[in-house]
Amino acid sequence: MIICAMYIITLEKNYIYNGAILIKGAFIQAIGKKKKIMSSFPDEPVKDIGEAIIFPGFINAHTHLQFSKVKISSTPVSFTEWLPKMIAINNRFTLSDWKKSTNYGIKKLTGTGITALADISRSKTSFKALASYPYHSLIFYEVIAPDEPYIKKILKDIRKKIILKDKSKINIGVSPHALYCLSLSTLKQISSFAKKYSIPVMIHVSETKEEMELIDRGTGYLKELMTKRGLKIKYGYKKTPVEILAENGILNSDTIIVHGVHLTKQDLSLLKYYNASVVLCPKSNKFLKTGTAPVRDLFNTGITLALGTDSLASNDSFNMFEEMHEVKKIYNKIHNKDLLKMATLNGAKALNISASLGSLSTGKFADINAVKIKKTKKFDPYQYLCEETNIEDISLTMIRGKIFYSKT
Ligand SMILES: [Zn+2]
Repeated sequence: MIICAMYIITLEKNYIYNGAILIKGAFIQAIGKKKKIMSSFPDEPVKDIGEAIIFPGFINAHTHLQFSKVKISSTPVSFTEWLPKMIAINNRFTLSDWKKSTNYGIKKLTGTGITALADISRSKTSFKALASYPYHSLIFYEVIAPDEPYIKKILKDIRKKIILKDKSKINIGVSPHALYCLSLSTLKQISSFAKKYSIPVMIHVSETKEEMELIDRGTGYLKELMTKRGLKIKYGYKKTPVEILAENGILNSDTIIVHGVHLTKQDLSLLKYYNASVVLCPKSNKFLKTGTAPVRDLFNTGITLALGTDSLASNDSFNMFEEMHEVKKIYNKIHNKDLLKMATLNGAKALNISASLGSLSTGKFADINAVKIKKTKKFDPYQYLCEETNIEDISLTMIRGKIFYSKT
């Protein structure tokens, strides 16, 4: 099938005006000017969506689907108020609650333009739930307490999944939750496991000032909370979380840092040196009042910067447009093309799936979104998409060459 539109943003080269994409099965077979594609493949059926912008499917590089039905507050709330409530819900929810919550979240993804996602899962409920959807998924097994038998069991489960060579759309990763709830020896154990099996590691880093205080000085709110929970971890390293990760061999090109709100210049150099990626969750940071990430410095350092919504426990939607709008508020000089890359191609790079996803080019999956445009004169489609468009403007989403969502 050939799909045509007034603008096609490939994120490979410049956008194509009056463009067309030839889709064969799940993949893009050709992409270029409408005239050329139509004359080269005259027998192909054509779907012309006219005044529209086609662009790559969004990649939500960080979420926790299992928390989709966890509602702590409908208005912004501080991290220190939010966290104990999250812990209480985690202790209370049963497997059946997690299943319902995960399924609810997956339904909420429809119509958002998200075609691939990285999900952190403690309950593992997203494996079954995502299996019946076409999304490209990467599920990270979450490790949240430094309990030896528990960690051994999780690593055994992951190994089994990998050895099974699951041919499904779901890839595996591991997520040691954060430095504040895990010991260094546990982190090192998980990191060497991940290296051995070539799986990515996703970790929440430098999200709050409470975390920075705990890691640096060993004091403050998180120290009290972790002590109350019975965690006997030595904190107060006189270092930043990124420095700790770097010094202990945990930072590498398969490490994905989530949040990165409180980063020093030295942290940025280390992240760049070790080629780690950073996923920003600006709406979640705003909701939990944790601060704003140094987007301009991260961007200027040349670190792979992706975007995630985080969970619906700290966000009101899976709206990648709004995440882009927040980034623009933090760093308004960012070029819109780079901003769109954060929501698409950079997510694919961070998750190591950019060979087949994240941009529109021959051989990649036909994961595309389209938005209807209300202008007829030629204009800058990057600007229109990143600043003037929102989720309700999405008219079409294709995943693996099949229409997944369409609105007439
Ligand atoms: Zn998270």
